[in-house]
Amino acid sequence: MAVRPILTYPDPRLKVVAGDVANLDGRIAALCDDMAETMYAAPGIGLAATQVGDPSRVIVLDVHSKEEGPGKHLLKLVNPVIAEREGEAAFEEGCLSVPDFTAEVKRANRILLRAWTPDEKEIELEADGLFAVAIQHELDHLDGKLFIDRISRLKRDLYRARQRKLDRQGRPPSSGRTSHVI
Ligand SMILES: [Zn+2]
Repeated sequence: MAVRPILTYPDPRLKVVAGDVANLDGRIAALCDDMAETMYAAPGIGLAATQVGDPSRVIVLDVHSKEEGPGKHLLKLVNPVIAEREGEAAFEEGCLSVPDFTAEVKRANRILLRAWTPDEKEIELEADGLFAVAIQHELDHLDGKLFIDRISRLKRDLYRARQRKLDRQGRPPSSGRTSHVI
């Protein structure tokens, strides 16, 4: 297992639409293991393969790692598809690929997800609240979208202007996080 570098905005590889995985082979198993290690090291509660520069439809999630420690609720999902969505939820989101910025994003509150595990089991799971939001955030990554694509243009422009300023002046060390870094 290895921690892989996480791409950050505006890396063009974050805009790549990932392709379905055709073979659940050793490469995908290793990718999942590396992604889990990378997510815990960051730390974050979810990571998409897109964020480590691999255009495969693979995500890892552990929305309980903060309270219950890493590993207990780890999910490795291949070719995930949202079959149903309902309701609306708004969470303050952050993203490992969009450093030092958070914003409230509206998403479905409940989803039904179908996916494969790296050991070839087809699974279906229901998620709500933060768990549902994290899954939707990761699926956006697989479609080449960031959460800042889902907020108002004004807020996005403010973020870009601030990033340009930081790039000129140098970045201060990032402060403590209060939002959900997905
Ligand atoms: Zn993200």
